[in-house]
Amino acid sequence: MPRLFGTFGVRGIVNKELTIKTALELGQALATDLGNRGRVALGRDNRTSGEMLELALVAGLNSGGCDVVRLGLTPTPVLSFATRSFGCDAGVMITASHNPAEYNGIKFWDQEGAGFQRWREDRIERIMSHGPKLVGWRDIGRSERVEALPLYFDAILERVPRFRRGLKVVVDCANAVGNLVTPSLLRELGCQVISLNSQLDGTFPGRKLETIPENLNGLAKAVVSCKADLGVAHDGDADRTLVVDERGEVISGDRVFAHVALHYLRGKSRPRILTTVATSSVLDDVAAKLGGEVVRTKVGEPELVEEIRKNGGDIAGEENGGVIFPDWLLCRDGIMTAVQFIAALDSTDMKASELNLTLPKYFQVKRRLECPDEKKAKVLARLTKRFSRYRTSHMDGLRIELEEGWLLLRPSGTEPIFRCFAEAKTEKQAKALAALGMRELKAAIKGS
Ligand code: MG
Repeated sequence: MPRLFGTFGVRGIVNKELTIKTALELGQALATDLGNRGRVALGRDNRTSGEMLELALVAGLNSGGCDVVRLGLTPTPVLSFATRSFGCDAGVMITASHNPAEYNGIKFWDQEGAGFQRWREDRIERIMSHGPKLVGWRDIGRSERVEALPLYFDAILERVPRFRRGLKVVVDCANAVGNLVTPSLLRELGCQVISLNSQLDGTFPGRKLETIPENLNGLAKAVVSCKADLGVAHDGDADRTLVVDERGEVISGDRVFAHVALHYLRGKSRPRILTTVATSSVLDDVAAKLGGEVVRTKVGEPELVEEIRKNGGDIAGEENGGVIFPDWLLCRDGIMTAVQFIAALDSTDMKASELNLTLPKYFQVKRRLECPDEKKAKVLARLTKRFSRYRTSHMDGLRIELEEGWLLLRPSGTEPIFRCFAEAKTEKQAKALAALGMRELKAAIKGS
């Protein structure tokens, strides 16, 4: 049987790859995994298929003996927050994050509000293939509707001091659930907020959901034309954030993370910054400024959370603009990321573009090359041999440290491709590194 769970949860086109039958069975399997009792928090983003999948999951969980705390429309970090704060035994989020409207997904969370690790997803899959256990009529679970948004909102206001500068911020939540929190929260914290794509619409007509520069042209234009100080954008479930400076230039996800880390960890003794092999060296610069260290893991939120649990960490993040604040939540929180970035800017008298210049500039080139799954291991072995005289890391793919920067050649976990990331101090060097990577990659694929 092919693996049902992808890199993070179950995801697919609704009514084709992801049906209400799958949702029902996942609910029953989770209930079985929890010993046919307990409470489960359930939230969803605002896709057109969300309510239908929610009803199927409620039926599955109730028939397996679990009570369900129905949060309704909610960003992913709020689901994580509610699962832990309400003392639930697990959480379920119905979202396909940054994927288009025809997709949806189902993702499980443990009682500490962290995404299920792979071993736990495997256990759910085993239960699904053997058949879940249903309960007798007396033990069928109930469901209740509970509001989690105000509690989350207040919890942030309790932790974060009001801003002093009255910064003007354009917020683009892509017609998605980020709109339920971020605009009003930033207003409450003292920003002047202009909302873009602020009506909830499950067809997402405003822009594509992924927070990548090419999807943020509308935000960039709005920031410039409104003479705003910055713009912030979330993906479909608000666990990621990207920032646009006052000139309409996008500040990349790893730089957002870097500025947030520098601000959030200031004054902390020897902070431990967790990130992945695919993130910019700018994090090393931040760690040096703070007198702390950077620990790199494999790519993915579950890898970062595992490292936090094993050895601790003061902040964790990826290059896609998702930051985890371990003393707040064990989940990427795009809302808190936006708040902390603005707090960082608010603590200075600089413009956003000037703040960005306070960290060293790096140039990145990202490429990809098709490679059949069955060839990936061989290709990697060949590449390892080719680059054996360099300083390398084999944690996730092959990362090669060179004088002028670094190169990462990494097989994708979900697609038949190899990714090639290069970073250097100049654009020319980054392009040359990427070209070298692509050349070696092509040769290795051909020879395998
Ligand atoms: Mg997301």
